Parts: sequence; structure tokens; C-alpha cells
Amino acid sequence: MNPKLLAKTIEDEPRNSTAHSNKLTQIIDDALKNRQFSMVYQPLISTQDSSLIGFEALCRCQSPIFGFISPDEFIQHAEASGQIIDLGNWVFQQSLLDLRRLKQHGFDNIRMSINVSPVQLFSGNIFEDFMSLLMQLGIPPEHVKLELTETAMVRKPEQAILIFEAFQREGVQIWVDDFGTGFASLSLLQKYKIDGLKIDRSFVDHIALNNDDFTLVSAVIAMAQRLGLHIIAEGVETDTQLQILNQLGCEAVQGYLLGRPARIEKIIKQWSKP
Ligand code: C2E
Ligand code: CA
Ligand code: CA
Repeated sequence: MNPKLLAKTIEDEPRNSTAHSNKLTQIIDDALKNRQFSMVYQPLISTQDSSLIGFEALCRCQSPIFGFISPDEFIQHAEASGQIIDLGNWVFQQSLLDLRRLKQHGFDNIRMSINVSPVQLFSGNIFEDFMSLLMQLGIPPEHVKLELTETAMVRKPEQAILIFEAFQREGVQIWVDDFGTGFASLSLLQKYKIDGLKIDRSFVDHIALNNDDFTLVSAVIAMAQRLGLHIIAEGVETDTQLQILNQLGCEAVQGYLLGRPARIEKIIKQWSKP
């Protein structure tokens, strides 16, 4: 399609219309073919000693016609269209290549957290494919964490348990992403052996201002501690939020205050030990 026409139509179509959806499918296809996806990495920082413990890999899409497209939009669409399989495989490959690059630059004790969509979990052979990628690249499985939302976990519990256990036997950690935003947070912890929880940004946002949010976050942290789970709070933007999370004993944090997601070259420059 003529790019000008495509640009015009996507702006004109209502967000959830079929036409809008068709355009997004085309944008994602083009982006996969023409290397318009890229990865950025956001630091995960220990509250105990402010050390760098790892990065979360986050996907970006820059279309030459439409400009920046938010992951919230293209990931959701790619899940619905099935394109997340190809995109997810590319994300695995690129973030592991970049992890190897970080190791070569002396980042020894860090782990890479990778987001996995429920669609990826239940189609194909995610375990075999991922493990063979790790082998090919010479990356120890202990250096990788997979982040899955609650929705992913509740969809096909029996199948999910087997996949998680296979990963965990090899040393790959399984984390619950956006903890607290789904409908099954507590029963999840009962069903699965989880390695860690990410507290969603929506709870951290008002932790300093809203008593209920403070209570929820402190309860989740206390629960994680009692259950022996790792815990990371995301979306930390202010010193006050950091201080509160520190006092509550939250193990690690992630957010603009500590570092924004950035390209690998910038990450290497910014975070290399002097
Ligand atoms: P998420 O997994 O909850 O990732 C954290 C999101 O919070 C990221 O948004 C990150 O840029 C943003 N963030 C981190 N710290 C702060 C902060 O201090 N303030 C604010 N306002 N935002 C902060 P992003 O990169 O836009 O990604 C949105 C979502 O898209 C992710 O949420 C994740 O669910 C999904 N996503 C991104 N990359 C991938 C991917 O490679 N695969 C899959 N399956 N999903 C992905
Ligand atoms: Ca995540
Ligand atoms: Ca989140």
C-alpha cells in the first residue's frame, strides 16, 4: 500500500475498528521484515547496596511512517494476531545476544528479565527453543528471568506448571509481572512455585500519598518475604517512593529515578564499572 495512504488511514480509523487492526498487523509485519523493532534495557537496582542486579528487556517499535508505537499497543495486537510468536522469538534472540554482549563488557553478576506473552507460552516449544538459544550463545540459564503476567498463568494451569518447572530445573527463574493487577494473585502463589514478584507501577505511583496503596504494597512485600520470594517494585520515580520501599524491605527497584530504558550501547557506557 502507498505509505501516505496507510498513514492517513490509520489515523482516521477508530482504535478498535477492523481497519485499524489490519493496519497494525501490516505495521508489525513490516517492522519484523525491516528491522524496525529494537530493544531497550532498564536497570534493576538492589535497595540494600544500590548495586545493579540486572536489566529488564523492553521492546520498541519505530515505524518510518507512523513513528513510535507504544508496546502497550503493538504487544496486545501481536498477541491477538499471533505475530507475537515471531516477535517474541526475535525478542528472545536480541535480548540474549545483548546479555552476552554485556557479559563481554564485564557485567558479570547481572540477570536479564524478559517479558513472555501467554500466547508464546502455549504455542510451539518455548522451553526447548529457549534452552537451545541459551546453549548456542553460551549463556548460563541462571542469568535469565522470565516475566509473565497473571493472565498467562491462569489460562492453562496444568500446562503452565510443567513449562515453569522445566525452566526452573535448568535455573531459569519465573516471575509474576504486574503482581496485584489480575484476579488471581494469591491463588497463583498457591498453585505455582514462583521465584519472584514484580509490584506493578500502579501501586507504587501513589505509595507516598495514598494510604491504601501504601498498605497494599507493604502487605505484598511482607508476604513475599514470608514466602521466600524475590520482589521488585517497578515505576519508582521519586526519592520518597524509594525511601518508603527501602524501609518496607523491598529487595530491588526499577524506575525512571534509577534509570530509564536505554539502548544497549548507552547502557554499556552508563553502567560499566569505572
Ligand atoms: P511491563 O512489563 O510492566 O514493563 C514496565 C513498563 O513500565 C515499561 O513500559 C517501562 O518503560 C515502564 N516504566 C518503568 N519505569 C517507569 C517509571 O518510573 N515511570 C513510568 N511512567 N513508567 C516506567 P513499556 O516499555 O512501555 O512497556 C509496556 C508493557 O509492554 C510492558 O509492561 C510489557 O507488558 C509489554 N512489553 C514490553 N516489551 C515487551 C516484550 O518484549 N515482550 C512482551 N511480551 N511484552 C513486552
Ligand atoms: Ca515486565
Ligand atoms: Ca507493570
